Amino acid sequence: MTSHAGRTAGPSGSSGPSARPSAGPFAGTGQLNGVRRTVELDALAEDPRVDLLVIGGGVTGVGVALDAAARGLRTVLVEARDLAFGTSRWSSKLVHGGLRYLASGRVKVARESAVERDVLMTRTAPHLIRALPQLVPLLPDLLRPGQASLIRAGFHAGDALRLSAGTPGALLPRVRRIDAARTRQLVPGVRTAGLRGALVAHDGQLVDDARLVVALARTAAQYGASVLTRVRAESVTGTSARLVDALSGQTLTVTAGAVVNATGVWAGEVDTSIKLRPSRGTHLLVDAATLGYPVAALTVPVPGSTSRFVFALPQQLGRVAIGLTDEDAPGPIPDEPQPTEAELTFLLDTVNAALATALTRADVRGAYAGLRPLIDTGGGSTADISREHAVLESPSGMITVVGGKLTTYRRMAEDAVDAAVRLRGLPARTCWTARLPLVGAPGHRDSRPAPAGGVPASLLARHGGVAHEVLAAGELSPLAEGLDVTRAEVAYAVTHEGALDVADVLDRRTRIGLVAEDAERARKAVEEIIAETVAE
Ligand SMILES: Cc1cc2nc3c(=O)[nH]c(=O)nc-3n(C[C@H](O)[C@H](O)[C@H](O)COP(=O)(O)OP(=O)(O)OC[C@H]3O[C@@H](n4cnc5c(N)ncnc54)[C@H](O)[C@@H]3O)c2cc1C
Repeated sequence: MTSHAGRTAGPSGSSGPSARPSAGPFAGTGQLNGVRRTVELDALAEDPRVDLLVIGGGVTGVGVALDAAARGLRTVLVEARDLAFGTSRWSSKLVHGGLRYLASGRVKVARESAVERDVLMTRTAPHLIRALPQLVPLLPDLLRPGQASLIRAGFHAGDALRLSAGTPGALLPRVRRIDAARTRQLVPGVRTAGLRGALVAHDGQLVDDARLVVALARTAAQYGASVLTRVRAESVTGTSARLVDALSGQTLTVTAGAVVNATGVWAGEVDTSIKLRPSRGTHLLVDAATLGYPVAALTVPVPGSTSRFVFALPQQLGRVAIGLTDEDAPGPIPDEPQPTEAELTFLLDTVNAALATALTRADVRGAYAGLRPLIDTGGGSTADISREHAVLESPSGMITVVGGKLTTYRRMAEDAVDAAVRLRGLPARTCWTARLPLVGAPGHRDSRPAPAGGVPASLLARHGGVAHEVLAAGELSPLAEGLDVTRAEVAYAVTHEGALDVADVLDRRTRIGLVAEDAERARKAVEEIIAETVAE
């Protein structure tokens, strides 16, 4: 990228429809890599006028970029660090139907969640999501009198939402009660003394949240968006921003028909008129073996609360994530929020009440925390702040989209692009992302049936219909003994998924980095594969 500090041009929207971005050899492909990044930065330096500039490469920003590009807008997304660097990789990875919001009477946000869950699980990303049984064990000393009836009523209300969203029972089975033997089959670590069975409801679970972000970014790129990581937006207005390339240090001023700020908890740094009240949510990780390899989520009521639960969620790579907390997190926004000792103790104490053998600190293999970008509505607990999203226009004309959740990213993106089109008169078609399969989904043009024989199920779960491309990228052998990630996946992360360095691979394309010891075991192999792949 050459330096073009101070160079400006009129918004493309004001001088008629602009040219499609010239991605050169990558036009029409969903490949993201260092070469494409350079080609597209150079093209942007040549013609720094775009219809829409999106700031932030979390789920919201990549969703906005896909929505805009699919509507025919010349779209550029800049991400200061890496795809899914922020909150989008620290979630519980649930594609949920909004049951929790029903409990607090927020029917609109609950229904929106159920509808978006249906879109994700039936059309846009079914390859990344499975139906997860969520089980509340009927242990009399765990539940207050009447609590089981309340939970059952809530589960049935959630089922009504599922039906109203059109999600078939074959995909998300309806609520039922199971006996103690079946409960132990699903969650072998559950306490058996006094166990009278369990109530079971189903929700969607992503194989990984960061992989949804990458699939969205690649699909946006396929529709012509430039997705540029390691590029920070500074001095942002409603129609321009100075972009700083962290790799070269060079700068470029871009002018845009509209600018969408999708920087999550950092939104108030990009636009000072935005006031947020971040809330920290923490998970800890244990080996699945310590709970007997559960296949369902164990749901444990938080003592003294009617609506809060701690979940033990089976994950890829042989782990169970136990979460989560909801704590006020005032002050400067850290790059990587850290869990507190008090949160870890709270999670262990709560889940232990439902386990046959209590977990100790020695069982904890890793822990992570994320900040929810909640809109500041004044006093009260962060748990009570609405998870609805907002699209806000600042005095400078910048459009900020914030709040919401992973599950509803598509609707947030649609609302943000609708606002940009309406306020700035951009030449765009109507939104059609509800019908647009992401890279790897059935129906996507690059998807193929699962390759026959010998391909790890975990690779298929992470890559879906493009597993054949992964196989062509490298060897199927594991990165390190006992690690369920192949060498081919690392090579593919570099050639197709925009990974630029070891941390991108360990912490976001794969989630090996969630357990520090695993990351150290894999690091050398990842370094070697990156070096070989880049040299080819
Ligand atoms: C603990 C926890 C659990 C959750 N669980 C769930 C769940 O199970 N299901 C669900 O649906 N939702 C869940 N959520 C909510 C969901 O994770 C978030 O709402 C969502 O990920 C927010 O995404 P975002 O893109 O808005 O923000 P982010 O993912 O934070 O993305 C913002 C990006 O902007 C970039 N950026 C910042 N400043 C700049 C700049 N100046 N220039 C360029 N880039 C910049 C950052 O690097 C970052 O990558 C959970 C949230 C938390 C905290």
